[in-house]
Amino acid sequence: MAKFKKAKKLPVDNMFFGWQMGSSKHGTRVFPDIYAFDELPNLDCNTFVFKNVEGNVAIVDPGNGMSFDALLDGLKKCDVAFNNVKWIIVTHVHVDHVLGIYPALDYFTSRNIQPPEIIALGESARVIEEADVEKIFPGELGLSPKQFGVNIKPMKVRSVKEGDQLNLGDLNLQVMECPGHAEGSMCLLDPQHKILISGDVIFSGGAFGRVDFPGGSVKKLLQSIDRLAKLDFDVLLPGHMNFSRAGRREAQTALAIAKQFF
Ligand SMILES: [Zn+2]
Repeated sequence: MAKFKKAKKLPVDNMFFGWQMGSSKHGTRVFPDIYAFDELPNLDCNTFVFKNVEGNVAIVDPGNGMSFDALLDGLKKCDVAFNNVKWIIVTHVHVDHVLGIYPALDYFTSRNIQPPEIIALGESARVIEEADVEKIFPGELGLSPKQFGVNIKPMKVRSVKEGDQLNLGDLNLQVMECPGHAEGSMCLLDPQHKILISGDVIFSGGAFGRVDFPGGSVKKLLQSIDRLAKLDFDVLLPGHMNFSRAGRREAQTALAIAKQFF
């Protein structure tokens, strides 16, 4: 067999994700103190930001780590001070949602500021706490933490469960366990603003999360979508693609399509 010379490896910052450096995550003001930041292309996720009356900030799904500087820039453009972040909530631990917690914590420790509390549900909390890298990079994606420039290390996590209320000052988010796409997957309902944060369970346009990663389940996903379709909310903030102000209809469309699909 002929021997081929291995191609010289390009430095990481010139490859797949390199362009994410120096870019900005675009933020939309959903409510006066609630923002949705669009994902960057290539395995990032949407990031949601809630600011309470005291100016303290909660971030939901900080993205893939490589997009962290772009998130900082986007927050700055929306006048949200990253120093005021007190909570980082993760809907589930897939690479595109969770890796942003590592540069975020580095940001605080390098400035000697009290780092935010990391919040996740059940199995997701365990994975982050124990730095279970295989669960963060599910299936055979052929990806590694190094490609994202993050150092995955164990850390303290506040574990929440179904039915818990996250009290973030005057803001209140209800925790719903919604498995099917991933174990330890949670959706969050803000009843005051009628917002649903759906993680990768449902998306706008009737789309829904994939079930082929380890921990995925068609049956559980259908149950989760069914549950979301019955909720009273207007704004859907999904983990990927566009957000919607016709959230309930999106959830019902996702349910109808999922029922046909499976
Ligand atoms: Zn996912």
